[in-house]
Amino acid sequence: MTTPVAGTASDAAEPLECWCCAGTYQEKDLVRLGRHPEVGVCLACAHFLHQQARGREDARRPSPAARLRDALRAGRRLVIQRQWHQNQLFGRPLRWLGQRLP
Ligand SMILES: [Zn+2]
Repeated sequence: MTTPVAGTASDAAEPLECWCCAGTYQEKDLVRLGRHPEVGVCLACAHFLHQQARGREDARRPSPAARLRDALRAGRRLVIQRQWHQNQLFGRPLRWLGQRLP
């Protein structure tokens, strides 16, 4: 008789909750914090956190590149606010572009 070990394949398929958006994901779709591995965020939230961190870094060290990234972030906020990213005609190119901009 074998005893199940925590964290093995028996519970690997169980969906886990993102600590940021509360969505459910598989383990392979979560990013864990180094000193607190119990905390996992989904890839979309990890990208969001990265953008927030970059924005704060840019605010601390103004430069021409930082101003350009600020303008791009303002453009992204405008697109999301007006829901242009969900437009049937040009939503897909905007989403594609949004994933590639800083
Ligand atoms: Zn999330």
